[in-house]
Amino acid sequence: MMRGAHGPVRGIVESVEDLSPTFRRITFSGPELHALATEGPFYDQRIKLILPNAAGALPRIPESEDWYQQWLALPDDERGIMRTYSIRDLTRQDNVTRLTVDFVLHFADDGSTGPAAAWAAGAEVGSELLLVAPRHGEPQSGIEFSPGHADAVVLLGDESAAPAIARIVEDLKASTAAPRVCAYIEVPENVDQLTIDAPGNAEVTWLPRGEAQPGESLADALGWHVHDEPEASGEDADDLLWETPVFSASGEDLAEVAAPRSGTYYWIAGESGVIKGLRRFLVREVGVDRAQVAFMGYWRHGVAMRG
Ligand SMILES: Cc1cc2nc3c(=O)[nH]c(=O)nc-3n(C[C@H](O)[C@H](O)[C@H](O)COP(=O)(O)OP(=O)(O)OC[C@H]3O[C@@H](n4cnc5c(N)ncnc54)[C@H](O)[C@@H]3O)c2cc1C
Repeated sequence: MMRGAHGPVRGIVESVEDLSPTFRRITFSGPELHALATEGPFYDQRIKLILPNAAGALPRIPESEDWYQQWLALPDDERGIMRTYSIRDLTRQDNVTRLTVDFVLHFADDGSTGPAAAWAAGAEVGSELLLVAPRHGEPQSGIEFSPGHADAVVLLGDESAAPAIARIVEDLKASTAAPRVCAYIEVPENVDQLTIDAPGNAEVTWLPRGEAQPGESLADALGWHVHDEPEASGEDADDLLWETPVFSASGEDLAEVAAPRSGTYYWIAGESGVIKGLRRFLVREVGVDRAQVAFMGYWRHGVAMRG
């Protein structure tokens, strides 16, 4: 849940671009986006989208510190639907603020999808939704990427994490003390390999899934990686996995493991079941220190994400 001091802003679709069969890039602008903080780096900054309700209207949410409670209290048919996405880009140029989101157009074999993917598939110039993203003057929150003083960073994710990985890699390009980066991104098809403006010390490997099981190529990539670069160094809940050096969704106290880092920092995001498998391998089998890893379930097979 994200609590902005003053709530969502109205995003108006300025452009829609199909990058591949899987990814649709949508850029939002509109006067209300001026309130957003456009100074990066954004890394994996999460944002919330509030989609129109069944009548096609956006909910009316007052500008107030408790906007989230007020939004929750709206009748079901007015409230609309909230989902979490990443900032692919956020710029201000010639007094116009633009926020770009890369949507995965996920459709199951029976044609079913979710409200956010359906909205993106039908979006056109002028379509509107509400965006909850950091505003000017607000304390920073919603970035999990935290490599500390790591010498090397390993990013692993599926297509839902591709926008966040791309942003992290591009933001590191601008950083003076950038660590060495290896990114592995599993995508449905060969043609889903997107352009990332990576720095010279970053290696981005796209892993088309094809007919393989989801996560199989990520597990292989992690295995090779760990094998080539050995590290020094309770059973899974049903909830979405979210475990970073400073926060555990299972309520575990991780204060003790949030130590300053060196060595390799792992950032892993995607389908929750796949991520659990990768975490098991890395933490239990390889014995990588928990302070060196962030595991995040970005979606869960067969489950609609609320907020
Ligand atoms: C921090 C964070 C950042 C994220 N950034 C992005 C981003 O930039 N771009 C992006 O596309 N997604 C991103 N996601 C994932 C996105 O929030 C989920 O995919 C979400 O479920 C999509 O909502 P929906 O309404 O389309 O589907 P839902 O209503 O949530 O789910 C409906 C059905 O679709 C399935 N489903 C959901 N997502 C996928 C998927 N990716 N592939 C296959 N099946 C799926 C579910 O299992 C369920 O059966 C992010 C998630 C988090 C937590």
